[in-house]
Amino acid sequence: MTDLIEITPKIKMLRVSESFTSNVYLIGQDKHLIVDTGLNANYLTDAMQKSNIPVEDLEKIVLTHSHIDHIGGLNKLVEYTSADICIHENESSYVEEGDKRATAAAVFSVQLQGTPITSKLKEGDIIEWDEFVFEVLHTPGHTCGSICLYEKVKRILFSGDTVFANGSFGRTDLPPGGNSQDLINSLKRLSSMNVDILAPGHMDVVNNGQLHIKKSYETAKVYL
Ligand SMILES: [Zn+2]
Ligand SMILES: [Zn+2]
Repeated sequence: MTDLIEITPKIKMLRVSESFTSNVYLIGQDKHLIVDTGLNANYLTDAMQKSNIPVEDLEKIVLTHSHIDHIGGLNKLVEYTSADICIHENESSYVEEGDKRATAAAVFSVQLQGTPITSKLKEGDIIEWDEFVFEVLHTPGHTCGSICLYEKVKRILFSGDTVFANGSFGRTDLPPGGNSQDLINSLKRLSSMNVDILAPGHMDVVNNGQLHIKKSYETAKVYL
């Protein structure tokens, strides 16, 4: 089952119940930005059709990192759209080259072709979209080019696989560049930020995000 769930009037979340895939967030009203594509674009395009949102209105794709469960839909989406495709500069080459090891495509036996990246992101970049002003935070640890998108005024954090709800966080034992100390540092940084809505790459969106992030940081310090 695939459905778009409303997080706020201009942020929708794609929830796919039967597959290993990342959450996908659809942001905006007339034109849309997505955070991650999920493993397979069909889930997203089906859900958009059901909600009468033309796929051509997808104008920007921001990837939180290059793992296949977050970028697998890219190959298909570029057939339908000419969206700007953005990822942190540390991981752009893996997507462009279709690197099966770095993206973990090999582990999941998923086909992957290289896709050109049109914008390489770095710490402090600003992405203005609709009513939102997102700051790109480089938060390495799960991978070397993991990013979060932070909306300071609205207190929203799209956190990819860096931090999840309920005190959990992304693995640090995978390529490209997983590193426990980096993740602890990233969680420390995030735990000092004002976050209400935490929108992670997997599992639930939660409202008291800062508490969840602090719990993740405390847990990571003990277990990583
Ligand atoms: Zn993931
Ligand atoms: Zn990941």
